[in-house]
Amino acid sequence: MVKKQSMNFSDNELRRWIDGDGCEQELFAEADKVRRERYGTDVYIRGLIELTNYCRNNCYYCGIRRDNRQVERYRLSKEEVLSCCKEGYRLGFRTFVLQGGEDAALTDEWICGTVSEIKTQHPDCAVTLSLGEKSHDSYKAYYDAGANRYLLRHETAHAEHYRLLHPESMSLETRKNCLWDLKKLGYEVGSGFMVGSPHQTTDHLIGDLRFLQELQPDMIGIGPFISHQNTPFRDYKNGDLHQCLRLVAILRLMFPYALIPATTALGTIDMNGRELGLKAGANVVMPNLSPVKVRKKYALYDDKICTNEEAAECKMCLENRVASAGYRIVTHIGSVKK
Ligand code: SAM
Repeated sequence: MVKKQSMNFSDNELRRWIDGDGCEQELFAEADKVRRERYGTDVYIRGLIELTNYCRNNCYYCGIRRDNRQVERYRLSKEEVLSCCKEGYRLGFRTFVLQGGEDAALTDEWICGTVSEIKTQHPDCAVTLSLGEKSHDSYKAYYDAGANRYLLRHETAHAEHYRLLHPESMSLETRKNCLWDLKKLGYEVGSGFMVGSPHQTTDHLIGDLRFLQELQPDMIGIGPFISHQNTPFRDYKNGDLHQCLRLVAILRLMFPYALIPATTALGTIDMNGRELGLKAGANVVMPNLSPVKVRKKYALYDDKICTNEEAAECKMCLENRVASAGYRIVTHIGSVKK
């Protein structure tokens, strides 16, 4: 059924697998084989630090969108970020991911200062940023300050679909330009999309895969859309676990080298979602290192998991989950094997 490790799947093949043609187990087994050839049973960990939930954007799906007045806004101080990294380092993390809304108060100067201080204190670690759309010069300044990787999901590669998920002030073109800028600057780049977002069709998903083939990102993050009660999309149904898993497997076959996380959103729609994600070809997990006091405030969607545990508990829980799925967490910097 599955033509192994081919970049040349036809639209029809992709459509069958995305929609589920009854050969799901075979698809997962093939993806797992490809992942083991490249990465063995290694699972890389990234320590996620949720910097700020202030955001100037108003994405219709996102719980921290500007117009959600129910959110209690917060922003971590540089000292808090450094203390999260210190604890993370002690626990074995060698990559820190600083993620947040597009917060105008986080100036380039602040971001550069924080990145360079992390690199000074932990020169053997990678710093990943996920702070949304910025100018080429800002991305360059972060890179020069020591940032190594950048995560920016394209969300959907279809302009009309993009318009249905975002207000007029945002555009797919800007999003794509940011991704190309990041690539040119030398970042390891991550992109991706939500599965089952409102108005999404199978053709949109095929378009997402084709865009990723063009971009050739190092990291690809996907997760189910999960509705949030205080957004315009509150009444839309969540993405489907199995479709999301099939897409993880397809990504592994199309991009054998890629770093693909078993995301928190997968773990939120199903208790074993992350383990199933690993078995379908994912090879990264991202335990939360944010201070517990802010975790619930970074609610991108309803019922987000891991909002109560300290970093150490979060890591231990994931270590057990990864082991139960038949893989093992490794603590090195975890670069892409292209
Ligand atoms: N502001 C940065 C950006 O735009 O890339 C990073 C933060 S943003 C909240 C991180 C990711 O959360 C988005 O790329 C989006 O795919 C995901 N996300 C937001 N709302 C979601 C929802 N309701 N369900 C699933 N994922 C969601």
